[in-house]
Amino acid sequence: MARTVPQRALLVNAADLLRRPGSERLIQISLTAADLGLDDERFASDDLIAVDLQLESMSDGIVVAGTIDIPWHGVCRRCLRTLAEHTVSEVDELYQTVVTDPDAFQIVGDQLDLLPMVRELALLDAPWSPLCRPDCAGLCPDCGIDLNTGTCDCEEPRQPSPWDVLDDLKSQLDGN
Ligand SMILES: [Zn+2]
Ligand SMILES: [Zn+2]
Repeated sequence: MARTVPQRALLVNAADLLRRPGSERLIQISLTAADLGLDDERFASDDLIAVDLQLESMSDGIVVAGTIDIPWHGVCRRCLRTLAEHTVSEVDELYQTVVTDPDAFQIVGDQLDLLPMVRELALLDAPWSPLCRPDCAGLCPDCGIDLNTGTCDCEEPRQPSPWDVLDDLKSQLDGN
């Protein structure tokens, strides 16, 4: 039996699509983080990334649209809870044989390679410093109790510090 190379599933021969503007093709497949070469701490090698894309041939290229479901792992930056979550990324990209759009990916030899795009999205959208929920109360800075699940008798909350400003900034960057 031939050895399966999952990455090849994201290498699409687009000759038919290019010949017939208006035609469509669906790409629905799950690949492991290892298949995609995602090897930092946010990914477990056997996590499945679900790719659900529609390719539509236009006069000036192929529009690739759909979603990519990305599992990721992390630790809440406020309460230190271990997290295993998913982020669903929207895809809307253009692939062109002759690149005229500065944001387009190139089609080389009628082959449309979706892997670099999928990989890039996973790397961009899996958060580095997540929150377990947007209003996570975090840990008491004095006694360390998890303020999501308990209360303490420590003095009233400290004044906002420069760290809180940084925390909010991080949160905006992560889109949380
Ligand atoms: Zn939390
Ligand atoms: Zn406390």
